Amino acid sequence: MTMPEETSTAAWFHELTNRVAAAHRADDTAEVNRLLDYAEREGGAHWRERLEHLLTTTTLIKERRAAGLPGGAHSIGHNGGVLVCDFCGGEPVIAYYPFTPFQLAVLDAQMDSGDRWYVCGRCRELHDAGDWKGLRDWVGPAARQEPVRLIWHGFRTHRTGDAVPVAPGSNPEAGRP
Ligand SMILES: [Zn+2]
Repeated sequence: MTMPEETSTAAWFHELTNRVAAAHRADDTAEVNRLLDYAEREGGAHWRERLEHLLTTTTLIKERRAAGLPGGAHSIGHNGGVLVCDFCGGEPVIAYYPFTPFQLAVLDAQMDSGDRWYVCGRCRELHDAGDWKGLRDWVGPAARQEPVRLIWHGFRTHRTGDAVPVAPGSNPEAGRP
């Protein structure tokens, strides 16, 4: 499994997430750590952070359920380190679309959407052409997952404006509350 050139980073990350989730379910800590190390080596520390964020969220939801509580509220992801495209995981990000925050129900947990949808150049072109099929094809298997479909739909129906350019190498998320 290597970082893709012909397919999107989202396809790579989707497979990696499935492997990490399987190892986590099997309590195979060595394999989880091996995959986290691989993600960092292959994609950079920000991909390791994303996997760790997913694991933390999954563990919190499990603990709450075990205690008889609903899943609680969590953020979908974070873009604190290196910005990546919210569609395909690609870099560099060139713009974002503002949207009204919404909540996404995943089983009994609530996911907070944030309010900016970051895009790479390729996805911006597809999006602005209204080519949702092209976007799904480029993103790959992850685009067919129910939570991903729901957040894409939420973004489509909550978008409030056109693309706002992001200066190369800058991170407009840095320092935001
Ligand atoms: Zn993209």
